[in-house]
Amino acid sequence: MSNPILPLHPPGPTRRVRHELLRRDVQVRHVRPLGSGLLAVTFGGPALAGFVSLSFDDHVKFFFTDADGREQRRDYTPRHFDTDRQELTLVFALHDGGAASAWAQGAQVGDTAEIGGPRGSIIIADDLPWYLLAGDATALPAIARRLEELPAGTPTTVLLHTPHEQDHKALPERPGLNLRWLPSGEALCDAVRNLDLPAGDGFIWCAGEAACMARLRDILLLEHGRPRSHVKVSAYWKAGATDFHEDLA
Ligand SMILES: Cc1cc2nc3c(=O)[nH]c(=O)nc-3n(C[C@H](O)[C@H](O)[C@H](O)COP(=O)(O)OP(=O)(O)OC[C@H]3O[C@@H](n4cnc5c(N)ncnc54)[C@H](O)[C@@H]3O)c2cc1C
Repeated sequence: MSNPILPLHPPGPTRRVRHELLRRDVQVRHVRPLGSGLLAVTFGGPALAGFVSLSFDDHVKFFFTDADGREQRRDYTPRHFDTDRQELTLVFALHDGGAASAWAQGAQVGDTAEIGGPRGSIIIADDLPWYLLAGDATALPAIARRLEELPAGTPTTVLLHTPHEQDHKALPERPGLNLRWLPSGEALCDAVRNLDLPAGDGFIWCAGEAACMARLRDILLLEHGRPRSHVKVSAYWKAGATDFHEDLA
């Protein structure tokens, strides 16, 4: 009797799609504060024709000139793309000492920048029994987009740690949403540790500061024993480092 050939990893609820990598010239069309710690900047321009972002988990490279005239690049989530107007909105979490944050705070209509990518998309199924989305202000644009894109009524828990409690108002309201704001990364970890996760293979997506995300990954995989196929944890920035990105699970 021949042995069946088993796949090394059972098929999971994620799928990877590659995109042609383009760098596009854009101009600022609008700047809109969202609460006190977030700024939505909408870019437009003919080079955005054909822009594609298939997943809330996508990121683009944002190329800009800093206050000293040097070109810089940072990762940002395509929060919204308006196909008719060819306008792309990024949401900047404002903080001290960051070149991109400072650029956004000074952004004026007509300012120029460049957008690279997305290079690819990881598409996470939207028909699972429940979702947990957790992170800090840098994850908020992705979480907001996910809440808009998930089917209505899908049970979804959001655990959000941002400097300003009012920032959660930047998230869309939807039935089935259980939202909690946490005052610190430690409180975020405690909240995840103490969660009574529902039965069934829901999907857990987390993004934020590296040390906090490493703790969250351990809590989810080791303490809760969640299957790796149903957990995605990313470090979107690291205290003391510039332009940092790491996929942790
Ligand atoms: C895939 C991906 C998607 C992302 N999407 C978004 C998004 O949509 N919106 C968004 O705001 N950010 C997003 N980020 C995070 C963003 O790229 C980083 O926060 C980036 O470092 C900001 O650049 P900066 O020039 O302002 O600061 P940097 O020059 O990179 O860093 C300067 C200092 O500020 C610290 N720092 C960096 N970010 C923060 C922060 N948020 N709060 C406090 N201190 C910080 C650094 O540790 C460093 O000490 C994303 C990151 C990744 C990897």
